[in-house]
Amino acid sequence: MAAVSAPELLEAKFGLPRGVRFCARCVISNQRPSSTVEFEHTPDSKKETIHFDAAGVCDACRFAELKDTHVDWKERERELLDLLARHRRSDGGYDVLVPGSGGKDSVYASHLLKHKYGMNPLTVTWAPHIYTEVGWRNFQSWIHAGFDNYLHTPNGRVHRTLTRLAFENLLHPFQPFIFGQKAFPPKFAAQAGIPLVIYGENEVEYGNPHAEAATPRRDARYFTREHRIEEMHLGGVRVPELARHGVTVKDLEPYIPADPSVLTEKKIDVHYLGYYLKWVPQECYYYAVEHAGFEANTERTEGTYSKYNSIDDRIDGLHYFTTYIKFGLGRASYDAAQEIRNHHLTRAEGVTLVRRFDGEVPRKWLKENLDYMGITETRFWELIDQFRSPHLWQRVGDTWVLRHQVS
Ligand SMILES: [Zn+2]
Repeated sequence: MAAVSAPELLEAKFGLPRGVRFCARCVISNQRPSSTVEFEHTPDSKKETIHFDAAGVCDACRFAELKDTHVDWKERERELLDLLARHRRSDGGYDVLVPGSGGKDSVYASHLLKHKYGMNPLTVTWAPHIYTEVGWRNFQSWIHAGFDNYLHTPNGRVHRTLTRLAFENLLHPFQPFIFGQKAFPPKFAAQAGIPLVIYGENEVEYGNPHAEAATPRRDARYFTREHRIEEMHLGGVRVPELARHGVTVKDLEPYIPADPSVLTEKKIDVHYLGYYLKWVPQECYYYAVEHAGFEANTERTEGTYSKYNSIDDRIDGLHYFTTYIKFGLGRASYDAAQEIRNHHLTRAEGVTLVRRFDGEVPRKWLKENLDYMGITETRFWELIDQFRSPHLWQRVGDTWVLRHQVS
């Protein structure tokens, strides 16, 4: 226990807070990083983490409380109607771009915009690293439920290389997906001449700073270019140095965010539907099942207890395993925290689920993920252990255990 009572003596990697605390209401800890601008992400980056207030409650729980008690949702819907009225077209052209995968949230957003609000959406998808079968079926079901879709699949050789670099340098194999998910739709909107882009939920739901929730607009830092391309990092490597890995600037088109002046000139306006409508993931799920034939998995997802969140990419399980290693927060922590905030679980139930499932090794597709990245399993475990922060992990016999677990 000496280590726990003297946390200041233990190194905290990634700029994480040395003292580990868990939210009084949900199961998230103060180690949870906020969304970052991935192009600035290097092995030396310091994380910004979720804020806890004096009562020991996290920002995401406070945000959920505001949604329940303070937000005037009728007024918010009127704001949405105004926004849509300004963009709605009567000439048959697309009037809103809805980015998504055909998962529950994008199905909900696109279906509501089309059928409740009379818009004519074009949906756009940035492909997962490796589709799961259920993910591909849900993607097809979405289209067959009545939507045009543009699927953008990045160059597999480049995407695999960037995934390997992101794994080796940042333990962040999901990073190449995030680049495209954030950068590609607004850029595509400019090319397609569809000024209004509407995403589903806001990252604030999961603990980004509250200031980002005060506006319906997505923070442009996430999808515009503030730096010269040469100064950007992908997979933790500066763009000019990617050439050593066989990736040149010509390969990076779908990853590089738009030039802000182009988005201004084309009047591209990026919003969250979650600002205007109260976002409850479980309700999105039921809605997607009813209106678009969305299927949950037949078995629970590795690392958690749920069956319908983020099930379209075979690399998802690995992604959450890396968050467990780096921050002590695995997939069950993220799922349970969200369901506690939406009153579908008690905190005690959440704690039990986290202790049971968080950190389960994602064996199902591990071999395929490693082959995809070109990494051996021995090398995989070496890298995993390199990224364990001493303030979170200790070696007991021949296993690693977390120093702090939610209780
Ligand atoms: Zn909380």
